[in-house]
Amino acid sequence: LIAVEHVDKWFGSLHVLRDVNLDVRRGEVVVVVGPSGSGKSTLCRVINRIEPIDSGVIRVDGRPLPAEGRALARLRADVGMVFQQFNLFSHRSILDNVTLGPVKVRGIPREQARRRARELLARVGIADQADKMPAQLSGGQQQRAAIARALAMDPKVLLFDEPTSALDPEMINEVLDVMTTLAGDGMTMVVVTHEMGFARRAADRVVFMADGQLLEQAPPTDFFDHPRTDRARDFLSKVL
Ligand code: ATP
Ligand code: MG
Repeated sequence: LIAVEHVDKWFGSLHVLRDVNLDVRRGEVVVVVGPSGSGKSTLCRVINRIEPIDSGVIRVDGRPLPAEGRALARLRADVGMVFQQFNLFSHRSILDNVTLGPVKVRGIPREQARRRARELLARVGIADQADKMPAQLSGGQQQRAAIARALAMDPKVLLFDEPTSALDPEMINEVLDVMTTLAGDGMTMVVVTHEMGFARRAADRVVFMADGQLLEQAPPTDFFDHPRTDRARDFLSKVL
């Protein structure tokens, strides 16, 4: 579904992605781990074309990423993204947050979009928060609203960039539980996280990044029990 082929990315003189190759199959859950500054967020951002790449190719569903225009808007609708900082529209109700994208980008009739939004809010366990403003919700509830908003676009794949890093500890599990359910339902997901328990439980494959390179790709039990590189062993000794 996603093919990242020989991708390089520079920020000025900083080589942040080095010949990165990654395939994500339909229904697969890929968890990306690695030290701070290794390029995990950048990888998410280039897949969603928030950042351009300097060389290589990225395909979604077989089609190379468009550079701009309507094709890019469609691509963004197919590739949902959930950020560390929720990024909800703060002056809009939760229901509006989940409704606006489908109405504006997908052209779905407003009433239909609202019905679907209520279903999705129920699915992430915050049906009763629909008419509140984002600031009236806890961090965990806001992040679940952000997941509902991403799902409302019917994306082919969801990218998560440290979705629980900004949350208080007691709210982390409510978000991870929603993500685990999505994974079980067959959603294609790429998840950057420091939650190694989630990686073990939900990942089909763990990808280890360091210094802009994908150093290891393996099923979670292999990666956690038998890391092959010193970098990965060193990383795991610090986080486990
Ligand atoms: P963390 O775990 O801390 O989130 P990360 O693996 O997500 O780290 P990135 O955010 O992808 O790492 O950053 C990779 C490198 O690129 C870092 O050295 C970072 O400072 C640099 N970088 C990221 N974004 C930019 C930018 N817009 N301009 C310049 N340098 C950047
Ligand atoms: Mg990051």
